[in-house]
Amino acid sequence: MFSSVKKAFKNLFSKPQTIDYPASPIEKPAGHRGLIEYGEEHCIYCYKCEKACPPGSILFVHTDNPTENPKNKKSLEYKYNPHLCIYCGECVRACPKPEEALWQSEKKPMIGIKEDRVNDGWFEIEALKKSK
Ligand code: SF4
Ligand code: SF4
Repeated sequence: MFSSVKKAFKNLFSKPQTIDYPASPIEKPAGHRGLIEYGEEHCIYCYKCEKACPPGSILFVHTDNPTENPKNKKSLEYKYNPHLCIYCGECVRACPKPEEALWQSEKKPMIGIKEDRVNDGWFEIEALKKSK
């Protein structure tokens, strides 16, 4: 009983545990998983990230020349869909050159965007990939 009263008084004069969100920004916790970033100059085009990605939000395609042989790695384009990404980090774990070719940044994931049909361009990229 005494300890409950003591705790109640302590809570009465201590700072609130909640924050005034969204007026006050939320501090990112350690190990926060943000947007995936790509360093083309270090990429060896092994496709391990593409294969490891559960929802398929990383694809390597030839968008300029769709009839290009997929084995020709020259002119391959890295495509990433942040709206499909679940921020699991599997792609970075699979990459033989983490932190150089691929890394998980602290940039905010793209959620809650009020854009309609954000995946329209992505469906074309997926179709291009499947046609290979
Ligand atoms: S973080 Fe996960 S979902 Fe996002 S691109 Fe990497 S493997 Fe795919
Ligand atoms: S796993 Fe890394 S090196 Fe391999 S294709 Fe992806 S980004 Fe490039």
